[in-house]
Amino acid sequence: VDGMVRHDWTAGTVLALLRLPLLELIGRANAVRRARFPDDALRRAALLSVKTGGCSEDCAYCAQSARHESVDLTPTRLMDPDSVIAAAEEAKARGADRFCMSAAWSRARDGKPFEAVLAMVRGVTALGLEACVTLGALTPDQARRLAEAGLHTYNHNLDTGPDHYPKIVSTRTYQDRLATLAVARAAGLRLCCGGIVGLGENLADRAAFLATLGALDPHPENVPVNLLVPIPGTPLAARPPPDPLEAVRVIAAARLVLPASDIRLSAGRATLSREAQILCLLAGANGVFLGERLLTAPNAGEEADAALLAALT
Ligand code: SF4
Repeated sequence: VDGMVRHDWTAGTVLALLRLPLLELIGRANAVRRARFPDDALRRAALLSVKTGGCSEDCAYCAQSARHESVDLTPTRLMDPDSVIAAAEEAKARGADRFCMSAAWSRARDGKPFEAVLAMVRGVTALGLEACVTLGALTPDQARRLAEAGLHTYNHNLDTGPDHYPKIVSTRTYQDRLATLAVARAAGLRLCCGGIVGLGENLADRAAFLATLGALDPHPENVPVNLLVPIPGTPLAARPPPDPLEAVRVIAAARLVLPASDIRLSAGRATLSREAQILCLLAGANGVFLGERLLTAPNAGEEADAALLAALT
């Protein structure tokens, strides 16, 4: 029954969804979206890179990897908490309900950097925003301290299915990612865990990715769906941007697999027409990121966000 939360998803059952005729898939996903989120409210997050670049991992799509030497990016130090909290205040004034902070680390750093992140979490939470961070791998103690500081959600993406993952990242395993998700969940944190369309994956990889999320109990509360933004200097620079309808299909299947989760149309939105974005919402997405940039990739920007929101009224 569409709309029921279940955890027995397999790659095969999700593949059957992804292969449905497009209008049937969108129709079924939209019915679940309307039933689960009857007010049609669009969740709005803002994302700030609090520490950019210099990352020791080698994610093939990412401009922040220190291993992609020809990327034109100057690494930065960790921002000071006051500047981050001021940015969160601005984001709140622009209508954000969530403030996500990203540090390009393979694992969260202990000591002063971690204390600074805790101060950011406390400050953002005190503004009445949902605070979310992404810091890489976490120890149970770090997860506990983040939860105690008031962290709402921990972001840690799986990106794609397990078979395709080693073609995108060689410096860690899919199992490492799942282990960190389990550590964050065990500390009582909500999870944000998303994927990217356009990494050269096939339909079976997309099905395996969604089935992995669907098998988690509870499901991740937030699922960002990104379209690859090919960045010069990264190994995926020459990949063509994905067909927007492929993202629509993934979003619709995600809505059926994860009926109660927030599904956020994320990176790559700037490449979509207003109409394609609305098709993504019709297919089950119920959130976006506001602002001009998503880490190192361009985002829709204030004017385009306003046009989208106006079209939805
Ligand atoms: S995606 Fe994250 S972990 Fe991977 S290289 Fe970029 S910053 Fe590092």
